Amino acid sequence: MSDILVVGSLNADLVVRAPRFPAPGETISGGDLATIPGGKGANQAVAAARQGVRVSMLGRVGKDNFGDFLLDNLRANQVDTTLVQRDDAATGTAIIVVDANGQNSIVLSPGANGQVKPADVDPASLPHPKLVLLQLEIPLESVLHAAAVTRGLGARVLLNPAPARPLPDELIAQTDFLIPNETELSLLTDQPVTDIASAESAARILLAKGARTVIVTLGANGALVVTPEQATHVPPFHVDVVDTTAAGDAFIGGFSAALLRGLSLEEAVRYGNACGALAATQFGAQPSLPTAEEVKQFMKT
Ligand code: ADP
Repeated sequence: MSDILVVGSLNADLVVRAPRFPAPGETISGGDLATIPGGKGANQAVAAARQGVRVSMLGRVGKDNFGDFLLDNLRANQVDTTLVQRDDAATGTAIIVVDANGQNSIVLSPGANGQVKPADVDPASLPHPKLVLLQLEIPLESVLHAAAVTRGLGARVLLNPAPARPLPDELIAQTDFLIPNETELSLLTDQPVTDIASAESAARILLAKGARTVIVTLGANGALVVTPEQATHVPPFHVDVVDTTAAGDAFIGGFSAALLRGLSLEEAVRYGNACGALAATQFGAQPSLPTAEEVKQFMKT
């Protein structure tokens, strides 16, 4: 039994700091390699599990050492991995170079994530989740199938449309919660999104296409919740930012856990804002995802 099912990507993030980016054909020396568990799917699974929710992950990794590493990491975070298959393709990796200014340059190799098939989401083997979390780092046809199948089982469907790309209306119409950031919202709707008013009008386009609730994450400006009845700006928590990697994933994990605990939509978004802000205070993806205890302390002060 799991309350949340995540259908999505698992990546090994291979991170090296270097004084600058190498020019074509050039070799430069960098710092020590850091191998960090990542992938939006796995990040969101861990983010929710750290809030004390029962979470299952569905996806694919390779039969290589990175695959072992990612599975061990999920289990260490209490995420059920029964539905993660081992594929002949290599485990997904992100090769990340960070320069002296903190800018990064990334080559993503989807590997096994690109092999997730619609048939992997087999209703007979699913844990009857209350909420399903989807992103766009696996093939779109599998995302569509996962949304349709799990809604059929009575789950609510949350889609984080990242990385940004246009989507078929059919998928938008399957979402109970559609959670883009400003860039993704702009691309999805072909509208400029520069402030709260423009975010609301773009979000309304997605509501008209059948999304039940749109939540726009606004980085340091918090989040905007838009339903057919109303639009509510939920203000941010102010923090000293170190690295905003995985702030969105932390938000989604926290929001989902809070919703399942019975908080109202607005309260759950506020809880998500706290998780996103905390994630921005630490370096890296999964290492920066807060626990329930850390969020509790943070929200008190
Ligand atoms: P993504 O990481 O997907 O681009 P955002 O940057 O919008 O998503 O961040 C997700 C959430 O994390 C925001 O809605 C906000 O609550 C929180 N957050 C992100 N950056 C900051 C920041 N600089 N200060 C406070 N909260 C932040």
